[in-house]
Amino acid sequence: MIYLRPHHGLCIQHFVGEGYSQDFVDNMKSTIQVLENTPNIEITLVPASDNICSSCPNNNQGICLSGQKPEDYDKSCLSLCNLNFGDVIQWKEFKQIVQKNILTQDKLSIVCKGCEWISICQGFYE
Ligand code: SF4
Repeated sequence: MIYLRPHHGLCIQHFVGEGYSQDFVDNMKSTIQVLENTPNIEITLVPASDNICSSCPNNNQGICLSGQKPEDYDKSCLSLCNLNFGDVIQWKEFKQIVQKNILTQDKLSIVCKGCEWISICQGFYE
């Protein structure tokens, strides 16, 4: 089982090897490898620290030091995807829902407003 904050479904699809630290980047790569190699794997959508946060320097004992922003990204992502915290869903299905309801609708900037990494993600569509 992989635990994911909903907005990380967006981060994962735009990851180019940059991040908060080398540990973060390495963990992101290995998590993505697991998800892409086993697309039927079930993920649980969680409102707090997940597999990605586990190696993040902003993770202070399960509390994100980035404050309200990640929570807002999660809620916006869930709302647009008609999903809820606690939902268990296959990675391939979640990836498709995120693509259909957010990415192809050009709604990335709505979900990720104010994110320091958004220029990288938007670069995918230029
Ligand atoms: S910034 Fe916060 S939400 Fe993002 S990976 Fe780090 S701990 Fe998790």
